[in-house]
Amino acid sequence: MVESLDQVLLQGLREVLGTPKGMIALHEPEFTGNESALVQDCLDSTFVSSVGKYVEQFEAALAEYTGAKHVIAVVNGTAALHIALKLAGVQSQDEVLLPALSFVATANAVSHSGAVPHFVDSSLDTMGIDPIALAEYLSATAEPTSDGLRNRHTGRRIAAIVPMHTYGHPVDMATLMEVANRHKLAVVEDAAESLGSTYQGRHTGTFGKLGTLSFNGNKIITTGGGGAILTNDTELARHAKHLTTTAKRPHRWEFFHDEVAWNYRLPNLNAALGCAQMERLPDFLARKRELANRYQTAFSRLSGIRFVAEPVQSRSNYWLNTVQLEVPEMNIRDQMLAATNAAGYQCRPTWILLHKLPMYTDCPHAPLPVAEQLEASLINLPSSAGLMLRIGELA
Ligand SMILES: *Cc1c(COP(=O)(O)O)cnc(C)c1O
Repeated sequence: MVESLDQVLLQGLREVLGTPKGMIALHEPEFTGNESALVQDCLDSTFVSSVGKYVEQFEAALAEYTGAKHVIAVVNGTAALHIALKLAGVQSQDEVLLPALSFVATANAVSHSGAVPHFVDSSLDTMGIDPIALAEYLSATAEPTSDGLRNRHTGRRIAAIVPMHTYGHPVDMATLMEVANRHKLAVVEDAAESLGSTYQGRHTGTFGKLGTLSFNGNKIITTGGGGAILTNDTELARHAKHLTTTAKRPHRWEFFHDEVAWNYRLPNLNAALGCAQMERLPDFLARKRELANRYQTAFSRLSGIRFVAEPVQSRSNYWLNTVQLEVPEMNIRDQMLAATNAAGYQCRPTWILLHKLPMYTDCPHAPLPVAEQLEASLINLPSSAGLMLRIGELA
């Protein structure tokens, strides 16, 4: 019997998650540890805003966990990227390379820094930037100058590249760093989705000059809203803290600010939540990995749909579990989304490619055959760590 692909997908979902009574969310946060206690302690202290111990504690916990020498907590992941790009040397009218397949925040942060997004293609294996295709594209499109890499067509300097670790799966960073170094491109990693993911044993976000995280409500841990900048460079770290906290010179009473800066600090209240969430991270990761294993087993027995497993040399946090249709077809994908959502499984397509959004249609882009294929074929499945605790009662 030839089954339609929406029936195949439903079969896989039922096998892993059982039959939902209500809606099984794509990704839900979990606050069953010290969250209430630490947030209450923060309220009791009255230090809920720009001063307090939890910001430092949260930064220290993130530094210890990721191995980054310095971590600067900020108000969200987009703000983290904005400042990281600025500190990487990106200037107004520069171009910045980034994957066409990403969340809009990656491109917005480039725009906020006054630069022009320049979109490049992805790899089927990692769903992130394909460094081999990138190298070929740059040889044809760009030339070295005394001022750095120059786009032959636009005349603009290409200052930096932003690899993004899609749904928690690490980019091939060894090859990407080699290509970036050869072309003298600064690397800023968008690790918003990949807290807990490593490449060759090293945490994502620590390969480039700077890296960034997000703690939005849908991410692997949350502070309500929040983000962080990672770097091993002590001077960049000092400047990142300065620029995200109004550039005020320390003084007992004087308001002396020494450059145009931002109020991008993470409130102490949010950091308290973050400290409690960091205690839970290893447990979240273990349960998400178990859930991914179950999906992988279920879909390995079904045809027409491939489960996207972690790339070689990598350990993924499996932030959002993803399947790929073997034949990319937007109509079939949409039928599958309609069927699964009607059946109570909240599934989502991947993002519309960024160069198709109205504000980015005029931006330069490489040929994007793989990104186009991924756009028409990726579906995210319910991925909350909490599902592993509920599977017994769902089945
Ligand atoms: C979540 C996310 C961000 C940052 O988002 P914020 O909501 O600003 O914290 C940036 N890039 C990617 C790829 C993301 O998924």
